[in-house]
Amino acid sequence: MAKEAVEKWLASFTDALSKHDYEAAANLFEDKDEGVYWRDLVSFTWNIVTFEGRAKIKEALEKTVPGHEPDGEWAIFKEASGADGAFESHFTFVNKRVRGRGYVRIREGKAYTFMTAAQELRGHEEKSGRQSTREQGVIPGVHGWPENWINPDKENGGSNADFNPPKRELHADVNPPGGQMKENWLERQEKERADLGMGTQPYVLVVGGGQGGVHLGARLRRLGIPHIVVDKVERPGDSWRNRYRSLCLHDPVWYDHFPYLPFPDHWPVFTPKDQLGDWIEMYVKVMNINYWTRTTVQSCKFDDAKKLWSVELTRDGKPLTLTPAHVILATGMSGFPNMPSFPGETDFKGKLFHSSKFPGGHEFKGKNVVIVGSNNSSHDIAADCCNCGANVTILQRSTTHIVTSDTLLNTMLAGLYDESAEKNGLDTNTADLTFSGIPFKMLPDIHKGAVVEQKKRDAKLLEGLTNSGFMLDHGEDESGLFCKYLRRGSGYYIDVGCCQLIVDGKIKVQPKAVVKQIHADEVELEDGTKLQADVLISATGYGNMNEWIKALIDEETQKKVGKCWGLGSGTTKDPGPWEGELRNMWKPLTQPQLWLHGGNLHQSRQHSLFLALQIKARMHGIPTPVYPVPFTHHAEGGYGK
Ligand SMILES: Cc1cc2nc3c(=O)[nH]c(=O)nc-3n(C[C@H](O)[C@H](O)[C@H](O)COP(=O)(O)OP(=O)(O)OC[C@H]3O[C@@H](n4cnc5c(N)ncnc54)[C@H](O)[C@@H]3O)c2cc1C
Repeated sequence: MAKEAVEKWLASFTDALSKHDYEAAANLFEDKDEGVYWRDLVSFTWNIVTFEGRAKIKEALEKTVPGHEPDGEWAIFKEASGADGAFESHFTFVNKRVRGRGYVRIREGKAYTFMTAAQELRGHEEKSGRQSTREQGVIPGVHGWPENWINPDKENGGSNADFNPPKRELHADVNPPGGQMKENWLERQEKERADLGMGTQPYVLVVGGGQGGVHLGARLRRLGIPHIVVDKVERPGDSWRNRYRSLCLHDPVWYDHFPYLPFPDHWPVFTPKDQLGDWIEMYVKVMNINYWTRTTVQSCKFDDAKKLWSVELTRDGKPLTLTPAHVILATGMSGFPNMPSFPGETDFKGKLFHSSKFPGGHEFKGKNVVIVGSNNSSHDIAADCCNCGANVTILQRSTTHIVTSDTLLNTMLAGLYDESAEKNGLDTNTADLTFSGIPFKMLPDIHKGAVVEQKKRDAKLLEGLTNSGFMLDHGEDESGLFCKYLRRGSGYYIDVGCCQLIVDGKIKVQPKAVVKQIHADEVELEDGTKLQADVLISATGYGNMNEWIKALIDEETQKKVGKCWGLGSGTTKDPGPWEGELRNMWKPLTQPQLWLHGGNLHQSRQHSLFLALQIKARMHGIPTPVYPVPFTHHAEGGYGK
């Protein structure tokens, strides 16, 4: 039943699109203004956008289908599921420009969610296992291949009749069989590296080589886009190595895989930061990413006439100018420390610093450590200091959402990013696309259910925290961690051990704490409490990604682009109007040829593909009419909040 229902829907839809009959196409969606969605990830709209309501979907189809008409089979991927008139399925699709994957949910023959995601550009596919695109590696005539291949059958005494070694194309840069090798692989790499940026300009400059930059670098390499990823660091991976000593990922390994190269199956569930650093370093090598270390971008200026950027940077201390067509800022959402200034802080005799500068708790044995803030970094640092023998107090100003990593794994990520998903043959891309198939507007209601279960599972711990004075929330609408992350990127701790230390009284909490004054060796709060302090740490989070635009381009461009991240939910730090997608991330901005890339490992893995495809299309002059046209988010005030 499910199979027939979905196939029928897809056939009717493609038939309507092929005939440009948008009325008929729209009639395949439920007749509502709300609660019915088409989400497109760069396959029709060259944008990342969700349309809500049948009328908006119809209008979007009218605007975007011309040039992107169906052109091949739209078929169920794996199998459809459902019963009683409600069915859903992954599917594959082809239009005139892209091959993609999608997800559709239908009720009584009408769709209420429909998602389309580009996977490759037709005619510009990535190099992969196909004979036609995979590089040969060996060089005919030098390695004696394929002419001199041994016929395994003949070796075993069989006949030679069916042995037909495939014909392979010669590298352009080697002589024909029997001739001398001009350059081997290493020499060709070295030549490319020496030339790129010095002679030939990269088509793309990626600023920042953390996980975001290297995910993108790998995609760009596979798509054959001349690129350079630059980072200030000494070694790829230092963005993680340089974080505090005790840090491990809070998300489990199944959620964190890199594009193309999943972690091996012995990898720890929660990757320690130095191990992740080494993985990034290995990844840069194996994926053959053009990565410049010890390189700092000072400024970028767009030349409107030439349609090129002029990027001033220093490489190994020496100045250099690059002129790429595109600049991608992968400089991190956790790159700009928010450092409040406290009255009297200059009187403080102890150490005062932001959490990003935390050296590790071993330095603070026997000290009084006061931490301002009560989210992820605060808890990690508190636990590390406590375990190293410090006397720790967390100052909590407002409520925090707490969920244990175990519970998170067994509720929100269960079935998609865990061992059971692997056992059920669910590959990471399909898991990502399943997740993308849920429009953001639907997430809170779905996650509210998960939060009810999470509260049950973590009940004892949550009760203990409350008894310790810790102030809890589960999101303003009880929709939990991921919605908070999408809306504001803060306000939570995924518990990996600190909470029990609070419950056990080993770490103290001062609720509703606002710092009034810093004295030589004390922190005074507005309620009059005075706390002895040798060390004061601001675990007060990070600024908005658009701070990077101001820092590396200028304030005018920052204002033109506006707020980044957040959905427009109207909750704290995420002012409306409702946007439906993360503002300005991975998609065209009001500033042409500038892009923002970032997010957690899951988001970076998936969206690096969408971003790379947008760049690739532009490199080849493929028409990319962006719909709707980019606009400034929160131009007047609030864009940085
Ligand atoms: C304590 C902590 C714990 C976290 N835990 C997790 C987790 O468990 N899972 C998860 O997915 N995320 C986690 N995050 C979020 C984490 O920040 C991001 O997932 C990750 O670091 C983002 O990667 P990125 O490549 O976008 O940015 P970053 O890792 O911040 O990398 C940005 C890079 O840009 C470089 N750079 C900046 N300016 C310039 C310039 N002008 N020139 C050259 N280079 C420049 C920096 O040197 C840096 O290497 C955590 C963050 C923190 C702070």
